Amino acid sequence: MSLANKLAEERRARLAAERLLELKQAELSAANRKLGRHALALTKKIGRTEAEVATVRDENERFKSDLTAANQKIELAERRLWHSIQSIRDGFAFFDADNIMIGANSAYLALFDGMDEIAPGVAYTRILQVMTEEGIVDTGDMHPADWRQMMAERWHQPTPEPINIRLWNDEYLRLVDQRGHGGDVVSLALNITETVRYEEQLKAARTRAEAANRAKSAFLANMSHEIRTPMNGVVGMAELLADSDLTEEQRLYVSTIKNSGEALLVIINDVLDYSKIEAEKLTLHPEPFDLERCIHEVVTLLQPTARDKGLALLIDYDIFLPTRFVGDPGRIRQVLTNLIGNAIKFTLTGHVLIRVTGVPAGAGEEAAIHVTIEDTGIGIAPEQVNLIFGEFNQVEGQQNRQFEGTGLGLAISRRLVEMMKGRIWVESEVGKGSCFGFRLTIPAADGPQPQAPRLPHGLDRVVVVDHHKINASVLEKQLRQLGVAVTCCSSTPEAFEVIDHSVGLIMCEHSMAEMDGFELAEALREKGITAPILMLSATPDYAENDPARALVTAVLQKPLSRSEVFTALSNLPDITQPDPPAAPPPAPAQAEPAAKGPARPLKVLAAEDNKTNQLVFRKMIKDLDIELRFAFNGEEAVAAHAEFAPDLIFMDISMPGMDGKEATRHIRAAESGTGAHVPIIAMTAHAMDGDREDILACGLDDYLTKPLRKATILDRIAEYCPDDVRPPLPELA
Ligand code: ADP
Repeated sequence: MSLANKLAEERRARLAAERLLELKQAELSAANRKLGRHALALTKKIGRTEAEVATVRDENERFKSDLTAANQKIELAERRLWHSIQSIRDGFAFFDADNIMIGANSAYLALFDGMDEIAPGVAYTRILQVMTEEGIVDTGDMHPADWRQMMAERWHQPTPEPINIRLWNDEYLRLVDQRGHGGDVVSLALNITETVRYEEQLKAARTRAEAANRAKSAFLANMSHEIRTPMNGVVGMAELLADSDLTEEQRLYVSTIKNSGEALLVIINDVLDYSKIEAEKLTLHPEPFDLERCIHEVVTLLQPTARDKGLALLIDYDIFLPTRFVGDPGRIRQVLTNLIGNAIKFTLTGHVLIRVTGVPAGAGEEAAIHVTIEDTGIGIAPEQVNLIFGEFNQVEGQQNRQFEGTGLGLAISRRLVEMMKGRIWVESEVGKGSCFGFRLTIPAADGPQPQAPRLPHGLDRVVVVDHHKINASVLEKQLRQLGVAVTCCSSTPEAFEVIDHSVGLIMCEHSMAEMDGFELAEALREKGITAPILMLSATPDYAENDPARALVTAVLQKPLSRSEVFTALSNLPDITQPDPPAAPPPAPAQAEPAAKGPARPLKVLAAEDNKTNQLVFRKMIKDLDIELRFAFNGEEAVAAHAEFAPDLIFMDISMPGMDGKEATRHIRAAESGTGAHVPIIAMTAHAMDGDREDILACGLDDYLTKPLRKATILDRIAEYCPDDVRPPLPELA
């Protein structure tokens, strides 16, 4: 190879090497740059980590110091707690779930008089053993082993009841143990020696006081008894004296002696009863008795007072409740007499309702009886309600001054009811009334109890006629319970309209306004109603003598006795066929014409469009010797005036067509110039029919408002009866 070639080759090679070098240098600087960036990132990261480490170190330091402070606090609290526990004079110990003592204060340990064994680590059962073995506890009549067993059983209960124990030195401890969540038990031994001593003293003092009180009550009981004997002499002799020949003045003296004596006897009886109860000398004499009859006897005795005051006395004895129980009937009667007597005494208008409900029981089983006596009287203020069952407590106040009494009745009743293991209470509102109640749990008597009656077959509708709403509703409730539909009517005319052939039974109050019960019975029979009628009467003797007595099936005494109602219902005949559809029309509305006698009877014309009211009117004057004619409206009245020439006209004001006022104007027009003037008396249902002046201005002479009263009608007839006719009223004859 030429030198030139060699040089050229060498040059090429050098150039190539230089290029390679440049390339490598470029790569190297790129790698260097990358390395630089990486190093920078790394440096930053290291910086951050160092900061974090510093924070964590700080926090750690803080936590450490907090922990130390907390620990110090806990230690302090623990020290204080323990110090307190140590300083209390009651024993305190705590045990773990395995009943091993963890700690106890010195008062607790002192019980064991420094025995080394009683220290943390000892088992509860061992403590019990030491207590009996060392004679620390006085187990009384109990054998030590039994006592330990009893105590161990108690300890293992989830919530042991506190227990009192007596120590050898006559001190008393009350052990209160409480089990915590983990099974730990905290045990307190409270020293109650002083309380026990105090209680013993109190008990002794109370026993002495009670004995003294009993002695006082026994003395009172004896005294009352002693006073009663001569008092009986006073009352009895006054009675005998009253029957002898006396002047009016002497009679007054004797009756005053007798009444005062009797009043005194009532008071003495109360005092005697009360002191007997206090002296624990009153015993109950249980025997089988009939509660319903008992209530009826009390009500019968008190009925005259209630009747004099115009109060309704009602009994609602639950239809499905037995009536025969075992108890002391005399004492139950006494409670009833007091409560019902008070209800009547403190009620001026309205009613007294005795309600008996309860949970029935079979023979020999205990029945819960609930008796309430509800009145519509003066009521009792709330602040007095709790006092009235106390002895000699009476509500003070103007209104109460008018009522007599000793204030012992309710106290005696409460004690008697409590002796019968019952409860007595009252709910009351001043001015509205009171409701006294008592509850007894007494066994039902052996033997048959009255059964709900078997109703006559086919009886499904009953009409009850009574103006007294509560009375009617009591009966309604009982009849409904027996499964019949009941319609209540508050007046006889209403009943007369309502009762048709679908009615299977009528139960009617005897003493009703407008038509009384028997008059309704007569009217119904005339209307063709054949359904049986039960007459309810507060004066059955009087009712039994009514000429229409034969029209009714039975007369029942009010307040109704359930058994009497049951018997009457059971005795009713079955309803086999429907009643005859058509009723014979009522007899012509006219009295028999006067057949003989010197003078003719009084002629009365009554203008009245309502048939029921015609009936009422006719019934009211049925005993009079008169000739009666009815007109159904004004036109008929005017015509009858011309043709019948009545001596007296009763004129309904509102009638369809020509009304009473217009009819009167026509009659007066017809009379004008003749000198005749027939008395016309207006009858109106309410004042709305026109005022008195307006009516009198139309030529009427007098004015009556409905409901008409028999006495008023008779008065008017007597007043307007001319002299030349037969006297219409027997007493005018
Ligand atoms: P007494 O009737 O002899 O005063 P009670 O012990 O029977 O004694 O009654 C105590 C008092 O309770 C009565 O004086 C009266 O103030 C009040 N009281 C009792 N029953 C009623 C009642 N039904 N309505 C209103 N007050 C009554």
